[in-house]
Amino acid sequence: MRKCILFILTTIFIVSCSISGANDPQKNTDLEHIGNVTSGEKLTTDKLNFHFDYPIYEGSTIDKTIKEWGEKLINDANKEIEENKKNGLKDITPELYYSFNKYKDKGINSIVYNVGKMISRGHPENIIKIFYIDEKGKEINQNDFFKFTEQTKNIFEQKLLNKVKTIEGVFEDQEALKSVVKNYLNDMKFYFDSEKIVFLFEQYTVGPYSSGILEVEFYFSELKEYLNPEIFPEIKKELEKKQEQEAKQSNLKNDESNSGKNEVNAAKIETKTGTQKEKTARKDGKKYIALTFDDGPSKKTTPQLLDILKENNVKATFFVLGKNASFFPEIIKREHDEGHEIGSHTWDHPNLLNLSEAKIKKQIESTDEEIQKIIGIKPTLLRPPYGSHNKKIDNMAKKTIVMWNVDSLDWKNRNVKKNLSTALKQVQPGSIILFHDIHQPSVDTIDSLIKELKKQGYEFVTVSELLQEHTDIEKKVCFGEFKCDAY
Ligand SMILES: [Zn+2]
Repeated sequence: MRKCILFILTTIFIVSCSISGANDPQKNTDLEHIGNVTSGEKLTTDKLNFHFDYPIYEGSTIDKTIKEWGEKLINDANKEIEENKKNGLKDITPELYYSFNKYKDKGINSIVYNVGKMISRGHPENIIKIFYIDEKGKEINQNDFFKFTEQTKNIFEQKLLNKVKTIEGVFEDQEALKSVVKNYLNDMKFYFDSEKIVFLFEQYTVGPYSSGILEVEFYFSELKEYLNPEIFPEIKKELEKKQEQEAKQSNLKNDESNSGKNEVNAAKIETKTGTQKEKTARKDGKKYIALTFDDGPSKKTTPQLLDILKENNVKATFFVLGKNASFFPEIIKREHDEGHEIGSHTWDHPNLLNLSEAKIKKQIESTDEEIQKIIGIKPTLLRPPYGSHNKKIDNMAKKTIVMWNVDSLDWKNRNVKKNLSTALKQVQPGSIILFHDIHQPSVDTIDSLIKELKKQGYEFVTVSELLQEHTDIEKKVCFGEFKCDAY
């Protein structure tokens, strides 16, 4: 949580002007700009000399919109000055000053104006105004970003209130905060920056003047369900994918004979059973993710992968086949010795849904025994081949069932670039990422993938480390850190 004191003192200024005498030369304080001003235009009146800068975006009407707003600001101030004059308030030098910042994220330029107005006695009045344009220069209305239903509005309001309550310097009266936040939803001040949405609260809204402008932040991914998909293509794409999945799922339901030979379809069914609510940040604010590799070990590609992981100091999780482990025990040992986690992917990759109870048991137990023979411990994780499982299998396995929520589709892509873009598009904090260490292009993808995700602030952990906050659930099926179901 950041606390942001109004920039009055540190940044700059505009003007002030004396209304006391027409003969006074205008007190035109020399103007310093904030640095990121691309262009500006001077707006002045006879009462206030207000040099008003704003960014120029080529091909956009935003300049005009901002200029009109600036003019209105000045006109309103002038009216107030006139009023004060009538009321005999002469000992105050009216002032209007502002700063502005620009932010860009998710294809949205946010232009944040922070205006201070000192016309009457008392503290300056503080006004925040934010303008938005998309990458094409099209202006976006603030009210178009969020799309609530009655229900989601209440949930969002509660989320926001919970965060506001934790800010240092807010009013102590909880009821007052509640009503302020409720009203705030009608006129929110927010901008998009670094995967986050930052909400600003003007002075006197949730805290006293002395607390300055207060901020609360959410990760963009935390608020996805409240945002308008028409403005954010990535949300739209996700929704379309979800609908597609649902359609596929109902098709599959109609065709029970489809035994899940298709890894993707099976995964999709499972994704659907996960709880819909998604958290995306841990209390410690860190963005943990887990890389997982299925179907190995392979004599050729797995050692290469281990070298890459070692160089990048990344620990991963291998869901190995018992049969392959029996062929290459030294690779399993190396995986374990280098700090990676070993999970079971059954003995030889059958679709467990097609097997008798006895055969399922054999698949799981023989793999457990093989791995225990090599590294001394039994795996506590099972990734069922094709993501195919049911309650009976889960109960027999007596392990955490580990699915995934990022599918690199590497088995299909067989191409580094495609693997990278497919995976990167889906990653969010808490993700479990699926790759197969038996394909050369998959292994060739990992160095770049790790470097890019580290750049984005992600930290790699094993699946058990990722799921440690779920120790309260004894039996579970997990799709990612924030999506584990009890069964
Ligand atoms: Zn597999």
